[in-house]
Amino acid sequence: MLENAVTGQDLAVGLLLADLTRGRVGQAYLFHGPAGTGKTAAAAAFASDLLCLSPERGQACGRCPSCHAVAEGSHPDLAVVTPDGQSFKIDQVREVLRQVSLRPALGSRKVFVLDQADKLTAEAANALLKSLEDPPPGTIFVLTSSNREALPPTVLSRCLQIPFRPVATAAVAALVEKETGLGEVEARYCAVLAGGSPGRALALAKDPEMGALRVKAEELAGLAPGFSAAEAIGAGDELEKLYGKDRQRLEAFLDMMEYAVAGRLRRAADDHEPIESWLSSLSRFEKAKSGLRRNVAVRLCLDFLFLGLSGEQQ
Ligand SMILES: [Zn+2]
Repeated sequence: MLENAVTGQDLAVGLLLADLTRGRVGQAYLFHGPAGTGKTAAAAAFASDLLCLSPERGQACGRCPSCHAVAEGSHPDLAVVTPDGQSFKIDQVREVLRQVSLRPALGSRKVFVLDQADKLTAEAANALLKSLEDPPPGTIFVLTSSNREALPPTVLSRCLQIPFRPVATAAVAALVEKETGLGEVEARYCAVLAGGSPGRALALAKDPEMGALRVKAEELAGLAPGFSAAEAIGAGDELEKLYGKDRQRLEAFLDMMEYAVAGRLRRAADDHEPIESWLSSLSRFEKAKSGLRRNVAVRLCLDFLFLGLSGEQQ
């Protein structure tokens, strides 16, 4: 059911619901927008709405044989096709065309979802064109893409364009905090990693990987201050490898680490231990993160942080 499948995509959902409730559905749709904004989830929900045998206000009833078949992943009139490796192979498209030529088995519609449609090779796209343009009655294509510019113009021009927008990180983080009881920093971390997708952020919050990253951040925080130079360089290497190409994620990881360092600072203060080195560690985080935001080389920011934490460099 489309309305429950995605959050924060009012425009996309509104456009599709209008088509569903009017019963005037297009032959081909393109769901486009950044990765992680719910395009695939929306495509699956839209397909089940289209195929439902007794829709309520245009959307799936959840009870008819069609809805049950969709839920079990065994609907004969629904095909979800994803690229085989780097691209769609011509044989995959031929199989789609073969299925297009068959009559619907359950109702009056057949739905073909092509996920990451920008990965159609020119040959595959060409083979598909005629069906996109003039499909048999009741046939509906739903293409998704986070890289619309890579689609051939001939394919683009045959699809109704449905835009998916990034959901604000803060809104997603607040949702994660509320639903999972995670702390503010961890919730933000999940939101950033999920690229604005509430569903993925929630899944991540429940993912053991999340716990592993937190352990990693705490482990690194535990070494600071008092890293050896070798440990500092090793930590920089590791983070550069993990997040070197994604400053936002790196910053989110540093947030988690900083949070752990702040925790150590509090404990040191409670125990009347010296806190100066913890305080200077904290200021290093702020400067390293500000460097990341100003596009300073990732490695420089990491070395500044970790060598600083090691006390090797003032
Ligand atoms: Zn139904």
